[in-house]
Amino acid sequence: MPYTGRFAPSPTGPLHAGSLVAALASWLDARAHGGQWLVRIEDVDTPRCIPGADQRILQQLATCGLVPDAPVMWQSQRSDAYQAALDALIAKGWAYPCGCSRKEIEDAQALMGHTRERHTAAVYPGTCRDGLKGKAARAWRLDIQRVIDDSKLPTPLTWQDRLLGNQQQDVAKEVGDFVLLRADGLWAYQLAVVVDDAAQGITHIVRGADLTDNTARQIVLQRALVLATPCYMHTPLVLGENGEKLSKQNGAEALDLSNPLAALNAAAARLKLAPQSGSHTEALTFWVKAYEKSM
Ligand code: GLU
Repeated sequence: MPYTGRFAPSPTGPLHAGSLVAALASWLDARAHGGQWLVRIEDVDTPRCIPGADQRILQQLATCGLVPDAPVMWQSQRSDAYQAALDALIAKGWAYPCGCSRKEIEDAQALMGHTRERHTAAVYPGTCRDGLKGKAARAWRLDIQRVIDDSKLPTPLTWQDRLLGNQQQDVAKEVGDFVLLRADGLWAYQLAVVVDDAAQGITHIVRGADLTDNTARQIVLQRALVLATPCYMHTPLVLGENGEKLSKQNGAEALDLSNPLAALNAAAARLKLAPQSGSHTEALTFWVKAYEKSM
């Protein structure tokens, strides 16, 4: 398979210093491998999307010399593909409707003695796994243990990150029956990302380390849907002054692209690439060569 990489921003705001690192890393990796670089706008979570942010991101990328090699894909236009994937999982008996409200899930978790830790969503207690018992369906979930058993997946699931090395996760125990179609009718990121990476023929995923934890779930879905598993690499995050991940949610400022080279130099520094002077296109060419040598 020829190398195909991608950058998949959510249009919840313009690019910031952190997302430029992911964009640059994925672009450099694709160029250094003589591969293609694609862009996908991940606008499934519509309440969080900001109108116009998609075009702004594409413009910002272009200003930095990062131009996709094929037409951009928008997840908001991909519902049929996600529905087909969900139907395939249902046909296998691997997805089930869930009628629980958030409150009901929390109460059931409390009864089972589970406490919700900060930053980790608690595991779904499995209330609707064996039927809705008269409740109305709200969301669809993956029956993770069934997929693991039927597909003979190892527990814990192990995978290799090109930068972080060996990774493992007990997906049934640590994550549980995650949502595929949300109660608000929106497609879940996990399903959309797996379906689209396959549809775009992505062979290599290079993205921020905050997404590392999603990879095992995505590999399980790839196995369930009989899709190839790409190679993964998770790049260092840019931290804000409070030591937390820089994100649109904690007020990361839009990049100042009046000087694209300065923004690219800052992103390159995170990837341990030497700062450049001259034009930003010359800098990109230099970094591709430096990156090739380090491979
Ligand atoms: N859309 C996700 C984000 O902006 C990235 C998804 C991915 O690279 O897999 O955080």
